[in-house]
Amino acid sequence: MKIIMLGAPGAGKGTQAKQIADKYRIPHISTGDIFRANIKNGTELGKKAKQYMDQGLLVPDELTCDLVMDRIGQDDCENGFILDGFPRTIPQAEALTAALEKINEKMDYAIDVDVPDENIVNRMSGRRACLNCGATYHIVSIPTKVEGICDRCGQPVVLRDDDKPETVQKRLTVYHEQTQPLIDYYKKQPPRAGAVFCPEKREKAVSTGFKNFSKTVKNPFTHKRARCGILIMSKGSNPLLPDGS
Ligand code: AMP
Repeated sequence: MKIIMLGAPGAGKGTQAKQIADKYRIPHISTGDIFRANIKNGTELGKKAKQYMDQGLLVPDELTCDLVMDRIGQDDCENGFILDGFPRTIPQAEALTAALEKINEKMDYAIDVDVPDENIVNRMSGRRACLNCGATYHIVSIPTKVEGICDRCGQPVVLRDDDKPETVQKRLTVYHEQTQPLIDYYKKQPPRAGAVFCPEKREKAVSTGFKNFSKTVKNPFTHKRARCGILIMSKGSNPLLPDGS
């Protein structure tokens, strides 16, 4: 099963992706995590990526695409993978489609986690991350047991530079300009299983809907409309309309 998570930064796609990856025993591949690991390890790639990330900009496609193509070619991706934060531009999506076509493969699902911008700004300003082990928290909804200290590894948790409000605004602008067009791109892809969209605007509905995701994806075409507001797109349907027609 090959899945792409779409959605604005901070929409919660990472959290959903981890759950889906666990459920289906497929690797969770987050380009943001890969870049952050490179920054932490002081690699050349990390140094280059940081300049863009700190400004809320996308890392250029030429630094990103090869990295992902290389990763999905590894043995643990044989039965599928879930991409979180890639593709983020049309050229990235085209590179992925082309790489998979070469081996006669296609993505199975694209999932859009749809959360309004204002909720994202609020959510990200409360987010805290451990730069040591990558765990993320929220000061209200997922607090650390000891204030400011990572539950997992005991290191301090911080507001990431790219989660600061001014950077978040920039990231949202970049998302709307460069990443949101991917929703149309994946709607037009010939279905090998179509795409799943969450049309609900309320955050609660997003998380409720995903509880049933695992039931839903097993047989996407027998569920025109899944429970809890998740909509399944089949060939010719409009996933953004409630009746899926
Ligand atoms: P994330 O953790 O997915 O929100 O990513 C953090 C930052 O890493 C983004 O704001 C970008 O600067 C960079 N990044 C992650 N994935 C990509 C990608 N596919 N293309 C370009 N830049 C990316």
